[in-house]
Amino acid sequence: MDYQKILNTIHEDTSYHNAIGKVASYIPELAKVDPKKFGMHLYCRNSGHYSFGDSQEKFSIQSISKVFTLTMAMQILGESLWERVDVEPSGDPFNSLTQLEYEQGVPRNPFINAGALVIADILVSNLDDPKNDLLEFVRKLSGNNEINYDLKVAESEKSTGYRNYGLVNYMKALGNIKNDVEPILDFYFHQCSLTMSCEELAKAFMLFANEGKLLGTEEKIISKERVKRINALMQTCGFYDEAGEFSFEVGLPGKSGVGGGIVAIHPSQFSVAVWSPILNPKGNSELGMAALEKLTTLTGFSIF
Ligand code: GLN
Repeated sequence: MDYQKILNTIHEDTSYHNAIGKVASYIPELAKVDPKKFGMHLYCRNSGHYSFGDSQEKFSIQSISKVFTLTMAMQILGESLWERVDVEPSGDPFNSLTQLEYEQGVPRNPFINAGALVIADILVSNLDDPKNDLLEFVRKLSGNNEINYDLKVAESEKSTGYRNYGLVNYMKALGNIKNDVEPILDFYFHQCSLTMSCEELAKAFMLFANEGKLLGTEEKIISKERVKRINALMQTCGFYDEAGEFSFEVGLPGKSGVGGGIVAIHPSQFSVAVWSPILNPKGNSELGMAALEKLTTLTGFSIF
């Protein structure tokens, strides 16, 4: 298959001029990003990698980081993790507080903010230096030791993150948060501020398209069984109240972030990252979703 030709077609056919959404502005630092940015990078399990546009430029990965922290927490707690966070799609926005009351503070899944904050609590409890361990993990997966937090973004989110303060305090009142709220939020705001390019993200997510092994060295990082579970969660919960639409249009497990990035994987073929900062009303990249719809249609590779 001529993947580069397919990517070129996607690039030509997906225009920023047709987008109607807006760049995220509730985190002030994100509002400064150029809305015209657009890039895509595809890593194939067996046949190289391909890209277009701004695929090498770093951006704020935001909620895509929740997949990395979930993977770390699964390695620490194993199956007992599911006592603290459920595995059901929420059908609600990513930052919603409403369902927590009926569920005694157990979030619907690890990818809504409430779930990611419980995962952050677990990492803060179990690791001496969770911010450093997360950096080391992501650097290893992407093969790039330069990956880092953007402290301006972390600070910007801290100064406006009232909902996340609300979520973590509410869950603490309901007994599902063990640490003080400040170190949990500090870790969470840092994880969201990780900056990576499409190329780095696609490479890191090959883990989930390569049975838990690094691409190239084939070093085993997580078991096949855990890859199955993480991919299932990306499929059902990776896009919040748009998870059904993403399955319908694209048909791959994936995860979005309000920085405009989306990563998706085909469990045996490829990992792909796309970035365009213009978001649709559900907080997912508008051009990113359109580009991925074209990718699975033109290649015939979706999981369905
Ligand atoms: N840092 C963002 C927040 O907590 C992450 C949200 C997202 O990317 N969907 O609001």
